[in-house]
Amino acid sequence: MADLYEILEVSRDASADDIKRSYRRLARECHPDANPDDAGAEARFKELAAAYEVLSDPEKRGRYDQFGSADGFDLGDPFGSGASGLGDLFDAFFGGGGGAGPFGGARRGPSGPQRGSDLEAVASIAFTDAVFGTQTDVTVRTATTCEDCSGTGAEPGTSPVTCSECGGVGEVRMVRQSVLGQIVTAAPCRACSGTGQRIESPCRTCEGEGRTIGERTYTVDVPRGVDDGSTLRLTGRGAVGPRGGPPGDLYVHLRVAPHERFEREGDDLVERLPIGIAQAALGVKLPLETLDGWEDLVVPKGTQGGYSFRLKGRGVPHLGGRGRGDLIVVVDVETPEDLDDDEAELLRRFAEMRGEDVAPPDEGFFSKVKSAFQGSAGQQH
Ligand code: ZN
Repeated sequence: MADLYEILEVSRDASADDIKRSYRRLARECHPDANPDDAGAEARFKELAAAYEVLSDPEKRGRYDQFGSADGFDLGDPFGSGASGLGDLFDAFFGGGGGAGPFGGARRGPSGPQRGSDLEAVASIAFTDAVFGTQTDVTVRTATTCEDCSGTGAEPGTSPVTCSECGGVGEVRMVRQSVLGQIVTAAPCRACSGTGQRIESPCRTCEGEGRTIGERTYTVDVPRGVDDGSTLRLTGRGAVGPRGGPPGDLYVHLRVAPHERFEREGDDLVERLPIGIAQAALGVKLPLETLDGWEDLVVPKGTQGGYSFRLKGRGVPHLGGRGRGDLIVVVDVETPEDLDDDEAELLRRFAEMRGEDVAPPDEGFFSKVKSAFQGSAGQQH
């Protein structure tokens, strides 16, 4: 799926008005009625409408920003095995990080109030919580709106006054004539730093900043299927900007604890299962604990070491999609090392029946062979 912001030709931090304006312009341009001979116009028009439906709705837009989709978490597979380093994950998650860049503290526009900076936090979660999804709390030190002045920066009882230089617009426009006609240029108003307002008596709590530093705890919804190193973006949970500027975003990096038996390979889980040589030769039904509970694993007779069994749908749910990976059980056939005399005798009889040569029951001979082959690192009996 193409990036919705790209479809609407707006940046990721575009305001609702920007989005509406861009949508109207593009919709006019490629309306099927205006392009009767262009078969692609209708498809593009529908794509525009679909993108606008998501980005014009704050709730859907928030979900899209966080998960890459407004409903079905349509992320593809950004965390394929081999992805490493936060840089890769950011690129995978946010399509190369459009707009302001994650750690900019960029301005919303030439005249708007300054946007707060983005924040980062790390959350550690258990293996099964990453598989099935969870909620976790993260605490960050952040700038929050000053409660005494409600973010205006003006001492309670007073209010900011409209900047007389720019008339509250926040930018100064200059019109000049040229050979091409009238040219209008705009620059941020210097008198009010582009805020459009001036504070005559600054709030004493925040010294006119409109924000104070403190700790905040947010509850984060961790979608099922995330992996170690995944990063979630919480739109608007970063620091607030000065004097009522919009907040930045909060990036939560996930650390997932390893599982004692399962190794993750993409959305598949791999478990190594030791079985005895008799079990491998004769077959066995073994109880096996999966993430979904106990199941029977039927090992057929004549199973070779290294053979794997695939339990469909017992792996990790596909992040942002339907279905799950598989659980792959790899059989390790273990040769017994601790045979007592009776067991050894049985195996010796077995070898005889099969016509196989085996070493004679001579401890002295056997330990000499072992030490000859294993050298000084070998075990001495
Ligand atoms: Zn204040």
